Amino acid sequence: MSEAAPRRLRQLADVAVSQLRHVGEKRVAALASLGIVDVFDLLTVYPRRYIDRTKRVDLTDLTVGEEAAVYGEVTRSSDRRTKQGKVMVEVIVSDDGGSFKVVFFNQSWRARQLSVGVQALFFGKVTDYKGQRQMTNPVVDVIVGPTGDERDASRVGRVVPIYPASGKAGLTSWEIGGFIEESLRRAGPLLDPVPAHVRTELDLVDRTTSFWGIHLPEDLADVAPARRRLAFDEFLRLQLLLALRRRRLEETSAGVRHPIDEADLDVAPGSLSSPTSSLVRRFLANHHFALTSAQRRVLGEIARDLSSPLPMHRLLQGDVGSGKTVVALTALLASIDGGRQGALMVPTEVLAEQHLASLRRDLAGLVLEDPSVLGGTRPLSIQLLTGRVRAKDRQAVLLALAEGAVDIVVGTHALLTDDVRFRALGVIVIDEQHRFGVEQRAALRDKGRERSYEAADPDLLVMTATPIPRTAAMVVFGDLDRSVLDEMPRGRLAIETTWARDDHEVTDCWRRVRDEVAAGRRVYVICPLVDGSERVEAASAVEERTRLALGELRGLALGLLHGQMKGTEKDEVMAQFRAGEIDVLVATVVIEVGVDVPEASVIVIEDAWRFGLAQLHQLRGRVGRSSVQSYCYVLGAAPSEESALRLQALVDSTDGFALAEIDLDLRGEGTLLGTRQRGRSDLRLASLRRDEDLLLAAQRVASDLVRRDGLSTEPAMVDELRLFVDDEEADYLFKS
Ligand code: ADP
Ligand code: MG
Repeated sequence: MSEAAPRRLRQLADVAVSQLRHVGEKRVAALASLGIVDVFDLLTVYPRRYIDRTKRVDLTDLTVGEEAAVYGEVTRSSDRRTKQGKVMVEVIVSDDGGSFKVVFFNQSWRARQLSVGVQALFFGKVTDYKGQRQMTNPVVDVIVGPTGDERDASRVGRVVPIYPASGKAGLTSWEIGGFIEESLRRAGPLLDPVPAHVRTELDLVDRTTSFWGIHLPEDLADVAPARRRLAFDEFLRLQLLLALRRRRLEETSAGVRHPIDEADLDVAPGSLSSPTSSLVRRFLANHHFALTSAQRRVLGEIARDLSSPLPMHRLLQGDVGSGKTVVALTALLASIDGGRQGALMVPTEVLAEQHLASLRRDLAGLVLEDPSVLGGTRPLSIQLLTGRVRAKDRQAVLLALAEGAVDIVVGTHALLTDDVRFRALGVIVIDEQHRFGVEQRAALRDKGRERSYEAADPDLLVMTATPIPRTAAMVVFGDLDRSVLDEMPRGRLAIETTWARDDHEVTDCWRRVRDEVAAGRRVYVICPLVDGSERVEAASAVEERTRLALGELRGLALGLLHGQMKGTEKDEVMAQFRAGEIDVLVATVVIEVGVDVPEASVIVIEDAWRFGLAQLHQLRGRVGRSSVQSYCYVLGAAPSEESALRLQALVDSTDGFALAEIDLDLRGEGTLLGTRQRGRSDLRLASLRRDEDLLLAAQRVASDLVRRDGLSTEPAMVDELRLFVDDEEADYLFKS
């Protein structure tokens, strides 16, 4: 390796871990099992914490009842069986200041892991056993293995990084630290792709300093600035990729200018319209309610996208019940006004059928000029396309779509499979799809173009009722423009939410159900979530219905809805519920998203702690969809503090955005980013909550760099980004 040029991250990724001094075949395999293949992977495994060996905790100082982290060497290790037959491993840990006992129950492997001579960090609560202090089943980080050659005198007496070592892979934190140290020393200075003026402005340390500071700090004070810089890099890379995707999209897209006149959005119900007015105008003039001002504003934003030559790529966030459907419909009609078609995609078949019915109802009476039919006009054609549609009907719909005889198609994502062809697809709306990642959206857009005989990119509107915090939206939906429906239709009363814990409260809940049914309303009862098994879940729903029918809800008409039922059965039940032939629908979470039955005024959620906060809020949104008072009951105790906080939050607030922030706090961010492509591009150090300022800075820097010249004057940055995308995407993003 020559001294000359500072090294790039991509060069580090070209060096296999097997090239390190102490890494033989066995360790290559062990590292690979942790996802570490090359030196770059290794350098981005960050310490979980540090122990400052210059300031040792004196073992004689430990306080009973408190948590402590204790570092020491195993001086004795034994295992035996207790009278109850449990395996008990007993270890004596010593340092200069004394010794201390650690016991493990039912962890027989600890005897092997903690043999005499091993140095480890023990983290747990200090207890008292017959007058002696000890720890029971603490968290253990093995720092130095039992064989002498792993000890390196130069690494004692400093700040020691603790890596997420894995007992299973058989690697100690100390070994990992050794590999990293060797890598850093041999790599020498690292090239910094972030322009110096940006670093100065944001007070960021340079790249070499950041890697040394996080892995080999001289002093604990080195860690924070190092972490800050590395976190910034994580955000910057993500934001650069998003900005580049956007720029490419704009350069390569062949969008459609849809004819939409903003003045048409201002017509109130009952206004005049003529048969020659646009469909948008005729629709709004004949609709049964006036738009809220939020709906009007959002439609304005959408109309500007639709009429511009760039394809729309917009996210519409609006809490449950805020009225997203009418917005979507208007966008679809604009496409038809331009002689094109529209597609509405939803996540489930139940929802597709519900939308089909409500669209047909809302759009009834609208006619389209069509010189090929007698009389010159025909009604709008709205059709369904899901996996459930029978082959013969499906063929008919496919043919009509290709000919342009279908105006709006509603379906699940079976809509964009290979045999589907549109004559000219103008607008795609995706409803309730908060679980789509960036890559899937890009694929969808491409498919939209491929599926259409007209070589143009359809406009895309993605709608979600799961409000996500702004910072998370910047990462997960950073490639989309965003609109927010932040106002509920007038006359809505806040849903009254009760957490019914004791028998008395539960009795009140079922009394309320009977009262509401007597007043002509409808009720959902949501059965407990059963992990991973729709079958068991269905069985429990069947049981619960029987129990209620014989007990608390005797005499009411109870229906059943679960994921194991056939499509036609589900439709039948939903139709009966809508029509009021069923009073109470006992259901599994199949009704989670989007179901709209305005007469429903009570939802009872059993074993509510099993649901996430966002899901509970979604479920609650099934009621409160008209001007009558609605109620939500969450039943059951909360087995953990976290679940209690969740249920209390639901009781305290009906604001989806506030709940989303709480959810992020309670669950951490992993779950939020779960849909994003896993692997290198993950946020390892950066936190959406703690590092909001860094995220905003990264977004600004990324858009400046990309806007100027698409990164063509930043070759080092481009080189680095190639590490985080596959070849195909790199070709797309970086070709000049
Ligand atoms: P979501 O955003 O959850 O999809 P919907 O579009 O289903 O909400 O609307 C919820 C309910 O509110 C529906 O019954 C709908 O007809 C009604 N609604 C929507 N917008 C308005 C409005 N501007 N005025 C009165 N009712 C409205
Ligand atoms: Mg909806």
